[in-house]
Amino acid sequence: MSGIGSDATPRAAKKYVPRPEGHNLEFHLAAVRTGLLHVQRCRACGVWRHPPRTYCPACHAPDFAFEPVSGRGTLYSMAVNHFTVDAAWLPEVPFVTAVVELVEGPRVVGALRGVPLEEVELGLEVVVTPEPRGEEFAFLWVDRLDAQSRMR
Ligand SMILES: [Zn+2]
Repeated sequence: MSGIGSDATPRAAKKYVPRPEGHNLEFHLAAVRTGLLHVQRCRACGVWRHPPRTYCPACHAPDFAFEPVSGRGTLYSMAVNHFTVDAAWLPEVPFVTAVVELVEGPRVVGALRGVPLEEVELGLEVVVTPEPRGEEFAFLWVDRLDAQSRMR
């Protein structure tokens, strides 16, 4: 792995930006336009759902909105990535892909940052923050909820 950390590493390379469509695009647009994580919610019964889909899994109503959520939750599942096919991610290997169960209920997927691997454990209190990448996609960062944030 001679390329890592050397001048051959494409530090200026940009991470791949997906091009979401349909309801998934709406999910990302809400985050890009407001800077806040939004999750789909049924207008008929109020149940939150993610990933976005047309009909409510609880009452089958087709009416929904993307509403802001706290971003707070707990680490529900994870995968430690020791390899990447995206050269722009090389400086961050190993990194953790995290499934976060939001306090509102739905689970979202993002990348955990700032937590040493030996301190990563299921149930960790975290907060999800969207970071716009272009006009139609927001990357989701997952940070450990620090003591100061808990007080708010
Ligand atoms: Zn419903």
